[in-house]
Amino acid sequence: TKEFALEDSLLDQLMGRRTTITAVSNVSLTAYEGETLGIVGESGSGKSTLANLITGLHTPTQGTVRINGEEVSSVTRRSPELLADVGVIFQNAKSSIDPRLTVRQAIAEPLKTQGYGRTERQERISELLELVNLSERYTDRYAHELSGGQAQRVAIARAIATEPRVLILDEPVSALDVSVKGSIINLLMRLQREFGLTYVLISHDLSVVRHIADRIAVMYLGELMEVGSAEPLFETPAHPYTKALLEAIPDTDPTTSVLDAFVLEGDVPSPVDPPSGCVFHTRCPIAEDRCRRDVPPVVDVETSASRCHFAKRVRAEKEEVQNP
Ligand code: SF4
Ligand code: MG
Repeated sequence: TKEFALEDSLLDQLMGRRTTITAVSNVSLTAYEGETLGIVGESGSGKSTLANLITGLHTPTQGTVRINGEEVSSVTRRSPELLADVGVIFQNAKSSIDPRLTVRQAIAEPLKTQGYGRTERQERISELLELVNLSERYTDRYAHELSGGQAQRVAIARAIATEPRVLILDEPVSALDVSVKGSIINLLMRLQREFGLTYVLISHDLSVVRHIADRIAVMYLGELMEVGSAEPLFETPAHPYTKALLEAIPDTDPTTSVLDAFVLEGDVPSPVDPPSGCVFHTRCPIAEDRCRRDVPPVVDVETSASRCHFAKRVRAEKEEVQNP
C-alpha cells in the first residue's frame, strides 16, 4: 500500500521528550491513499508540529517521516518531485499568500518551480480557477482584495497546482464564516474524489473532522492517544481523552467550534516535563495508581488502537449506555 508513516518516537522528540518510551515506539501513524486522516487535539497537543514535519518544514532530530515510502526528512531538499507530492492549506489563507503577488502570480509560483513553461502555466491556471470555482476576473487581484473564502480557494488552487497526492489541511476552515465553511469543505471533498487525494486534516473542530475524516488520530501532549476508524471512534471511543473531547460537542449546534468550549479539569501539562506513566493521568477522570506508574500499552480494540490501560472497559461502558 502507498502510505506515509510517522514514527511515534519522533513526536516525543519534537515535544521535547527523550525517546525513553520504548513500549510505544512501534506505533506509527499512517494515511492511506485517497483517505482523510483527521488529527484532533487541544492546542498544544502537537497537531501543527505534526503538519510541519510531514511537509518537511521541520527536520526531525530522530525518527523518520515517510511519504509514499520515501523519507521526507532526508530527501526533501534534493527531491522537488517529492515536495510537489505534498500540498499544504493553512488556516489563514490571506496571510499564506504573498501580499505582493496577484492571484495569477501566486498560483503560477509552484508551477514555475516545477518547470512549467509560460503557455502551460496560463492553461493550468485557467483550469485550476475553474476547479476551485473562482472567476477569471479575480486573477489580477491581491490577497487583501479577496474575501476569506476566495482567498482559501486561491490557496487550494495553488496547493493542487502541481498535482500533489497528499494535502495537509491545517485548520482549513477555522478562520472562515459559518456560511462559507460548508462550501470550502464541499470543494475539498469534491477535489479529493476527483483526484484521489489523500488528506491529513488537522483540526480542533470535531464537527468538521466528523464530517470528512475516514480515520481519526487523537493527540495529547504530542502523543497519540487513540487512532481508529472515524464512525466507531465517535460512537464508542476507547480512550478517556477521546471520550472527553466528544462529550464537549454540543448536540444542537454542529457548527460550534468544539474544543474552544472544551472543559477538562486542569491545564495541559508542559511537554518538557510530561507526567509519568500515562501522560493523560493528571486529567483523567478514571486514573488509578497504575496509570501514574506504567506507560499504557497500545490496546487493540478492533476498529481502534488505544493507549489506555482500561481501553476495553472504556469502550464497553459507552456501548452499555447506548444499548441498555
Ligand atoms: Fe486514564 Fe489510566 Fe487510561 Fe491514562 S491509562 S487514559 S490515566 S485510565
Ligand atoms: Mg495549531
